[in-house]
Amino acid sequence: MAMTQAIPIARHPFANGSYKQMLIDGQWVDAASGKRFETRNPATGELLATVAEGDKADIDRAVAAARRAFEGPWSKVKPFERQNLLLKLADLIEKNFDELSQLDTLDMGAPISRTRAYRLRVLGMLRYYAGQATAIHGETIENSLPGEIFSYTLKEPVGVVGAIIPWNGPFTATIWKIGPAIATGCTVVLKPAEEAPLTSLRIAELAMEAGVPAGVINVVPGYGETAGAALASHHDVDKVAFTGSHVTGQSIIRASAGNLKRVSLELGGKSPDIVFADADLDAAVPGAAMAVFANSGQICSAGTRLFVEQAIYDEFVGRVAEFGRKLQVGNGLDPNTQIGPLVSEQQLERVTGYLDVGQKEGARALAGGARITEGPLAKGYFVSPTVFAGVQDNMRIAQEEIFGPVISAIAFKDMDELVKRANATMFGLGSGLWTRDVSKAHHVAKSLRAGSVWVNCYQAMDPAVPFGGYKMSGYGRESGKQHVEEYLNVKAVWIKTG
Ligand code: ADP
Repeated sequence: MAMTQAIPIARHPFANGSYKQMLIDGQWVDAASGKRFETRNPATGELLATVAEGDKADIDRAVAAARRAFEGPWSKVKPFERQNLLLKLADLIEKNFDELSQLDTLDMGAPISRTRAYRLRVLGMLRYYAGQATAIHGETIENSLPGEIFSYTLKEPVGVVGAIIPWNGPFTATIWKIGPAIATGCTVVLKPAEEAPLTSLRIAELAMEAGVPAGVINVVPGYGETAGAALASHHDVDKVAFTGSHVTGQSIIRASAGNLKRVSLELGGKSPDIVFADADLDAAVPGAAMAVFANSGQICSAGTRLFVEQAIYDEFVGRVAEFGRKLQVGNGLDPNTQIGPLVSEQQLERVTGYLDVGQKEGARALAGGARITEGPLAKGYFVSPTVFAGVQDNMRIAQEEIFGPVISAIAFKDMDELVKRANATMFGLGSGLWTRDVSKAHHVAKSLRAGSVWVNCYQAMDPAVPFGGYKMSGYGRESGKQHVEEYLNVKAVWIKTG
């Protein structure tokens, strides 16, 4: 297969320094305030675009459009037609896949090898939702009431959905929010992250081209405290689907109380990844390393607490550090790059702050441990893949989500003790374990309090398999049938027939 060449930034059709409007009611419009903000390439600092900066007034307009669409012709669109729309959108995205993956890379920094690998997550997901659109059904339920009274359930779209997404995977996150909405007959107001709004806007263009009716998908870029908060607290929004930090998740729940809207939350994590001495270490070394270093650690389910059995601790952690040192760090557009920059200066400060915390707490950096300040990468927000050894459970680097390429390696001896320690976090999103012992694998998989457990692999994802959190990693599931249910209400209907 021929590799497509990366488009030089000045020639990227959507990230060439121009101005981007927001999408409301099928029209590309300016912010009511006229305000704009900039989005830049985190690898180089170059300006990619200025973007209309939405706030409460724009959210009000977008929600009103979404409501009109929901109650108007969209409510008459049959499942089969919604399926066709999703398939058309999938085809258009497939046709423009290289351009979109490069856009994602430019806007948030992930290596092109990663954003190109989103095929299954994006195209597979849209086609999966397309299938789900025609699979929505209620039940007829036998009841025990006297006489003849018939009961059945209807599944109905929940209504206007406010979707708020983060910057760490705008391509996938946008699809994961608009896909189930179209499948179920909901309408959406999507607020992308201020750090990386471009992919969502481009996908919205393609959705219009696919024939998604006006008002069904609206995209309002802007800041969290203004546009995001207005959407979360809006009285005419029926559900908020949020992906982001647990602190913002908490404020979303508070904001949702005004009209008791439904909320689903995919939040952060501090996931344990456990390596037993009997594991295939040749597979576990790259597996455990990339469970954290992929996307520069900017993945909510990254396996950042690396628990390693004492007998192999020094050898294994040394090998992970060596693997980390060999990774190619660089501009995401370079096809050889394995680790891109962090998304922003703010994120860089946060991660380097934790590197200092780790050293002060007494952990030893076997690899990395600092920002890259020399050579061509000095202009971007690059941090070397870092492995901290000698980490204790109560250290901040073992408890708090860093969201950077930082592994905290912790030793363990006893298995029961290990499970307690692995679960001793406020989060519960991902988890992993590496062993050749199938009984141990089942036992530990059952004991971990997390929404996903990966055995002898990490971060496997599929459109049909649910993903989501326990504890403070949130609630609700994305992917799988459960995801579609999150966008549906259940109505019971009783008909007296006697
Ligand atoms: P991260 O730390 O990954 O940036 P955030 O939770 O801060 O995570 O951001 C995720 C998304 O939530 C972004 O789109 C951001 O603008 C939005 N956001 C931030 N604060 C709020 C808020 N108070 N209400 C609603 N959305 C918000």
